[in-house]
Amino acid sequence: MTHVLHRKLGKTPPTVVHAEGLWLRDSEGRTYLDAVSGGAAVSAIGHGDPRVQAAIDAQLARVDFAHNSFFTNEPAEALADHLAERAPGGLSRVLYCSGGSEAMEAALKLARQIWIERGRPEKRTIIAREQSYHGGTLGALSIGGNKPRSMPFRPMLFDTRFIEPCYAYRYRHDGESEADYGARAAAALERMIQKEEADTVAAFVCEPVVGATLGCAPAAAGYLKRIREICDHHDILLIFDEVMCGAGRTGYTFACEEDAATPDILAMAKGLGGGYQPIGALLVHDRLVDTIVSGSGALLQGFTYMAHPVACAAALRVQQIMVEDGLLERVRDKGELLRRRLEATFGQHPHVGDIRGRGLFLGMELVEDRSTKAPFDPRLGIAARLKAVAMDEGLMVYPSGGTVDGTNGDHVLLAPAYTVSDEEIDEIVVRLSRSLNRTLAEAVR
Ligand code: PLP
Repeated sequence: MTHVLHRKLGKTPPTVVHAEGLWLRDSEGRTYLDAVSGGAAVSAIGHGDPRVQAAIDAQLARVDFAHNSFFTNEPAEALADHLAERAPGGLSRVLYCSGGSEAMEAALKLARQIWIERGRPEKRTIIAREQSYHGGTLGALSIGGNKPRSMPFRPMLFDTRFIEPCYAYRYRHDGESEADYGARAAAALERMIQKEEADTVAAFVCEPVVGATLGCAPAAAGYLKRIREICDHHDILLIFDEVMCGAGRTGYTFACEEDAATPDILAMAKGLGGGYQPIGALLVHDRLVDTIVSGSGALLQGFTYMAHPVACAAALRVQQIMVEDGLLERVRDKGELLRRRLEATFGQHPHVGDIRGRGLFLGMELVEDRSTKAPFDPRLGIAARLKAVAMDEGLMVYPSGGTVDGTNGDHVLLAPAYTVSDEEIDEIVVRLSRSLNRTLAEAVR
């Protein structure tokens, strides 16, 4: 019997014993091609890079840990410099934490603190989007629009207002241009603010490219810029959750660069540390920091592992490697190649409704009927089955949706390491095709 509580009780997953590049091996000697960066868009530069290991070893030999209320440390300062140099205008201050959920909790608390400091404590409502995921802690679940994940905890969550996501495959009208759709989708925020009254709204939160719940649904052209204008007009803070889509995943250090929209607070995690250490961060706009400096002077935040020296040393090396090895350009190149291969193999597949995403963050929506876009019966659990069959075929993919009341549909998400080779891209597509056809043959009889 295992003493570890695994997600599925009574079903222990294979034991991973080796990881290098895009390949993992289990204790039985089976190998797996990692098409999703460690399983959740984390291992951005691949597994087992000796340069990161050396940076971790060197940091451990110098300072393992010293609490952030007593000391700062060199890697934390250097990593913040690195991020601030590349961040969109004004996002120059960095608050560290240990992962994505913590980052989102910190973002919510920071937004609240800003309005208290500005003497407007009645601004406390958060507007978020349906079919979103921002983490598993209670605050993050409160703003998560994936109802089945939050439903059991509803009595413990705070009230959030939800608008529809920017999800062209489902919501764009026939014949509507992308720009028109982006403007129409953004107008939902304007309507919600008017309904709620701007004086009570603290912040709007969204992912520039929706990962975990919508299988890589990017914002339509102009959507985020319009969202920024609406937030400015009504004096509402804008929070971008780039936990999954950030840190180079779309071919830009920050996904929102491509949309030319800058938030007040930007959350990162996953690819920041590339899986070598657990780490998350908030990039905070100068004007928010100025508010606190001229007010109470102290952040209402504090986690023991904030700015952990070893986590920061690992993340700094990961981010430097992205620059040294030209990985952002590579993401754009290999992302195009992977997209072309997916389109060639699945473009006419009767159960693949959409192929979408940006950079090496690509998803396919799986549907019962391609012409009507009718989703599969959620009871079939197509996405979850596909994950299991793919593991059997030696391929790691990320299933999204399929666990729910039908609103999320079934999606499969691909997010390989930025170091993925052409041969590995071909192999991912071959194994995915085999896995999908097997899944459908088993589930849809
Ligand atoms: N935000 C987004 C967009 C995510 O995809 C996730 C995790 O998948 C989180 C937040 C939560 O991050 P973590 O699991 O590191 O707490």
